[in-house]
Amino acid sequence: MPAPSSSPSAADPHLPKPHVCIVGGGFGGLYCALALQHYQQRSAPSFRITLVEPRDRFLFTPLLYEVLTDELKPWEIAPSYRELLSPYPIQHCQDWVEHIDVHQQHIFLRQGETLSYDYLVVSTGSRLKPPLEGSHHALPFTTLEDTWALERRLADLEPTATEDRPIHVVVTGAGPSGVELACKLADRLGGRGRITVLDRRAVILRSHSLAIQKAASRAMAKRGIAVFTDVALEAVKADQVVYRHANRTHHCPANIVVWTIGTIPQPWLGMEIPKQSPLAQCLVKPTLQLLDYDNVFVLGDLAEMPGPNNSRAPMTAQAAYQAAPVVAHNLWASVHHRALRPFHYHHLGNMLTLGKGEAVVHGCGLCLTGRLGAMARRWGYWLRLPTVHHRWRVLKHWLGFAK
Ligand SMILES: Cc1cc2nc3c(=O)[nH]c(=O)nc-3n(C[C@H](O)[C@H](O)[C@H](O)COP(=O)(O)OP(=O)(O)OC[C@H]3O[C@@H](n4cnc5c(N)ncnc54)[C@H](O)[C@@H]3O)c2cc1C
Repeated sequence: MPAPSSSPSAADPHLPKPHVCIVGGGFGGLYCALALQHYQQRSAPSFRITLVEPRDRFLFTPLLYEVLTDELKPWEIAPSYRELLSPYPIQHCQDWVEHIDVHQQHIFLRQGETLSYDYLVVSTGSRLKPPLEGSHHALPFTTLEDTWALERRLADLEPTATEDRPIHVVVTGAGPSGVELACKLADRLGGRGRITVLDRRAVILRSHSLAIQKAASRAMAKRGIAVFTDVALEAVKADQVVYRHANRTHHCPANIVVWTIGTIPQPWLGMEIPKQSPLAQCLVKPTLQLLDYDNVFVLGDLAEMPGPNNSRAPMTAQAAYQAAPVVAHNLWASVHHRALRPFHYHHLGNMLTLGKGEAVVHGCGLCLTGRLGAMARRWGYWLRLPTVHHRWRVLKHWLGFAK
């Protein structure tokens, strides 16, 4: 479908400005709104921008673990949209989108309101697949609310924990989330904790480089974290995890189980489901426009974005962050009748925290570990925090100029 014929031309100051609705205020949506705003600042304003996001705070997920060890404060990694957007004419509509009608160009909100758009950006991200039977005993770890739930469980158990009666934590999944979480929990609990990581695959951090795998194995061994691979999880009970390994059934005691496996895209919010990949990501053109709908852009975890050599970009903040300015440019180009840009994903490397004040950073031919890795990771992420104002606030806090 071409761009909507009713879409006003940016060149005509007498016509209303096209309305861009951005659904989801995470790495794709928020950074796209901010990048689009920069286009407005360079030339005459050409859009009205509405960001529809039910939460009141953006979450910089890669730094979520640091809240557990009190290395970072929640406000540093989860600034409010009010703080982030107040300098800009971007309207934050705090509500859930229930339904999108791409034919009529309407989105329907949970509280009853309907928004009409000229251009739509959807970046609603992903969620954890509902886990095994009995797994209501398992805590997910993807949001700030999940962190509070884990904090509450730890706060209940920590006062009575000793080296002889440690807190048993089982982390399911030895992907980046599982490994980073296990190392942070091990450092937080010290001798009062026993951490076990279970994974169904033969190696930890399967999609990461050998250098990262080795650094993570060393960090986990140093902390006494037990790692079992080639495991088939069978059940999560109130006080144990049941799994099969090497043809035997094991019952691993657990006071806390944290679930980090099975990330799947959020379901599409319309009746008419767009063409999807086998992973249920929306199929998009290289310009990140939805197939058949040129005025709808989809990015982040929800879209099968192109990667190098005919592969797909990973479901990471890094990929969504890179896609956001491309979508902003393409929105601007659509309105100004300029050429749209294809998205090219460039893998810059990986950064994993491996405990308090320790990390591994591997990319651009460099591998930094330990404290140096932690510093590189911290500053690498600081540069990517949203808005100059927020970065400045955080920097002043780190340098001790502000509480
Ligand atoms: C604990 C954790 C650690 C991570 N660490 C890293 C890392 O170190 N490096 C890395 O590259 N990636 C990391 N990731 C992955 C990264 O967070 C995601 O890939 C990235 O956030 C995807 O961006 P997105 O815009 O697609 O979705 P998100 O950033 O998840 O944003 C989606 C937004 O959509 C909103 N939303 C959902 N449904 C609706 C609806 N119906 N209506 C309106 N709004 C809606 C949500 O509230 C959310 O704010 C991590 C993820 C987690 C959970």
